[in-house]
Amino acid sequence: MARQLNVSRASVWQAMRFLEEAGVSVFRVPGRGYRLRESLQWIEREKILAALGEKAELFELDLVDSIASTNSLLLQKAAQGAAHGSCVVTEMQTAGRGRRGREWHANLGGSLTFSLLWRFNQGAGFLSGLSLAVGVALMRGLKHAGVSGAGLKWPNDVLYQNRKLAGILIEVQGDMLGPSAAVIGIGLNLKLSEQVLNRIDQAAVDVRSINGKMPDRNVLLAQLLLHLADVLKEFEDEGFSRLRMEWLAHHAFHEKPVRLILPDGSQHEGNFLDVAEDGALLVHTAAGRKRFTSGEVSLRGTA
Ligand code: ATP
Repeated sequence: MARQLNVSRASVWQAMRFLEEAGVSVFRVPGRGYRLRESLQWIEREKILAALGEKAELFELDLVDSIASTNSLLLQKAAQGAAHGSCVVTEMQTAGRGRRGREWHANLGGSLTFSLLWRFNQGAGFLSGLSLAVGVALMRGLKHAGVSGAGLKWPNDVLYQNRKLAGILIEVQGDMLGPSAAVIGIGLNLKLSEQVLNRIDQAAVDVRSINGKMPDRNVLLAQLLLHLADVLKEFEDEGFSRLRMEWLAHHAFHEKPVRLILPDGSQHEGNFLDVAEDGALLVHTAAGRKRFTSGEVSLRGTA
């Protein structure tokens, strides 16, 4: 390899270490060489466009080999006037973000990490239930891809048997009266290496361990984008209310005991009651029925 690429053996060794750090499993025989344990499927524009079919015109795809955060790049592009439907997809996200500065870890070739820009005539206040609506789109997309049994956790996670399969990060630009723009970031685990799993400080799961096989990344991305476009259209027309029953049907903690952790560290325990038409969470606590709206509230199951 060193001879073919005209680099030193140390450079090859370093590149292999980098691959393993990024979650790619490498088979090595000292003194002989290296081999990938499994072939990698790259993200490819033509394949995504083919799977989008005639709806490809709804999206403006920007494929980036490596980027710190697809949301950060798309937020910049949005501020510079990027079109509705712009989508940044990356092969390797190196500093993915969750809420409140938390990290999102991705696996080279084993994750889908992308962000979609959606512009709304309504103001930012209208978007309060948007992360729940996006959860509904992910449920539809996963079902379409043959992944069943996943559920939603208010306000922004996809779980499978209490382990996190996907995360949603929505960042909004614009003012309360409108128009506004949402950058919708999605991170979905397809096949995580032990190395990447060990970096995640909560239980995580990937599609391959649920389904026994790795989905086609390009087709899955296209399916998710199509379901997102459908759901976002419904949301634009009627807000979260039209999607509420579908969200509740997928809720992982329905009528179960939950704990809410507020930004100041205070906690409330109670039973999950409902989600309101604006996406707010309704919980029955010892102090009566309480309503939580802030996207900064974290929910945990206590059963
Ligand atoms: P909340 O209930 O407030 O959403 P959260 O812990 O799920 O809490 P998020 O901001 O939604 O927080 O997501 C970031 C968190 O997700 C990280 O702190 C980490 O625990 C977890 N995480 C990071 N990467 C992955 C991944 N690839 N798969 C599953 N979980 C991950």
